[in-house]
Amino acid sequence: MQRDIFTAEHDAFRELVREFLAREVTPFHAQWERDKVVPRSVWQQAGRTGLLGIDVDEKYGGGGNADYRYYAVMDEEVGRAGATGLGFFVHNDMIGQYLLRLCTPEQKERWFPGYCSGDLITAIAMTEPGAGSDLQGIRATAVRQPDGGYRLNGQKTFITNGQLADLVIVVARTDPDAGHRGISLLAVERGMPGFERGRNLDKIGMHAQDTSELFFTDVRVPAANLLGEEGGGFVALMQNLPRERVTIGVYALAVAEQAHADTLAYVKERTAFGQPIGSFQHSKFLLAEMATELAVARAFTDKAIAAHAADQLTTQEASMVKWWNTELCNRVTDRCVQLFGGYGYMREYPVARAWADSRIQSIFGGTTEIQKEIIARGLGL
Ligand SMILES: Cc1cc2nc3c(=O)[nH]c(=O)nc-3n(C[C@H](O)[C@H](O)[C@H](O)COP(=O)(O)OP(=O)(O)OC[C@H]3O[C@@H](n4cnc5c(N)ncnc54)[C@H](O)[C@@H]3O)c2cc1C
Repeated sequence: MQRDIFTAEHDAFRELVREFLAREVTPFHAQWERDKVVPRSVWQQAGRTGLLGIDVDEKYGGGGNADYRYYAVMDEEVGRAGATGLGFFVHNDMIGQYLLRLCTPEQKERWFPGYCSGDLITAIAMTEPGAGSDLQGIRATAVRQPDGGYRLNGQKTFITNGQLADLVIVVARTDPDAGHRGISLLAVERGMPGFERGRNLDKIGMHAQDTSELFFTDVRVPAANLLGEEGGGFVALMQNLPRERVTIGVYALAVAEQAHADTLAYVKERTAFGQPIGSFQHSKFLLAEMATELAVARAFTDKAIAAHAADQLTTQEASMVKWWNTELCNRVTDRCVQLFGGYGYMREYPVARAWADSRIQSIFGGTTEIQKEIIARGLGL
């Protein structure tokens, strides 16, 4: 079915992203996987190409275009290219939304120019060793000081862009007795004394992505680095998480479609018992089933993209896109690996990387189980 949610401008933007990835990313990604991190220069190149801060005001170097569909196009193309080292979606689809919503004019002046140029890489630190799904269980504390600033103590883990980040939004408890109203967001900047990076974690996939532990010991965070209101952190998280979730769903579906396309090409070429492996009835049925499931997901996802662009996607719908597409991606990439045989287990094959790299998608941004909890809550359960 023809996709009908994009205009000629979106199509031109897709071409721009594809060219950027083919020129600046794909030829180097294997090396970045060995390095366990991407170079800062690729962020700066993305900034120069206009891929960061598309919805940020032009006066800060952004694109000045609030249309979510541009980010959807970008996330799809990054997913198709298997460019998992690029933490752009965290920067654009997550942190940018917090900064746009919560920053004072002074904070915007300070951070947005670097944010858009790729000189200021961002991260968000919610998860702790003892609290992931249950965000209200976080233990990092930010205690008010006489000068109005905060003294931050705590530990975070699994933080995307953790080694490269110049600005980290840290979720911390400013009032231990106020439940979810005691949680605030602080912008911690590179070089603040007491802010240390731990290990760049050894993951089963996404090897070029720097996912890290972060440590905060008596970090003095000035009052000017509080994002939004003190005690407003949990509400801000709840407002932004649907965007994160629809984005992960958009990305996951693109990965699954690409794996299916690659597998389709492979089964037509590879032969066994004197015939293409795609001619066995079992292979045909598998590919037909996957094509059907992908087409169904595509219809729902495009509707969700358009609804989100119109600011009409509900929290529950965002959760549906997330859990459905990420679980579908796990199923599809797993079947595709099987159809590739032993080659499907070799990281030099994109389908192998897609399988390993995607496995996290039904876990981060809220697990499948948490998405179902949210949907059930919307059903009054
Ligand atoms: C590669 C990677 C990148 C990440 N990036 C970031 C990042 O940038 N910033 C950040 O803050 N975090 C990040 N995370 C953390 C991620 O969001 C958490 O791992 C995730 O939310 C799950 O939390 P947890 O690991 O503590 O698992 P737990 O919360 O311990 O969950 C373990 C299991 O229990 C289940 N479970 C928990 N509660 C319930 C419930 N109520 N009902 C049913 N089942 C339940 C879960 O579904 C899961 O299956 C990242 C993680 C990884 C691996």
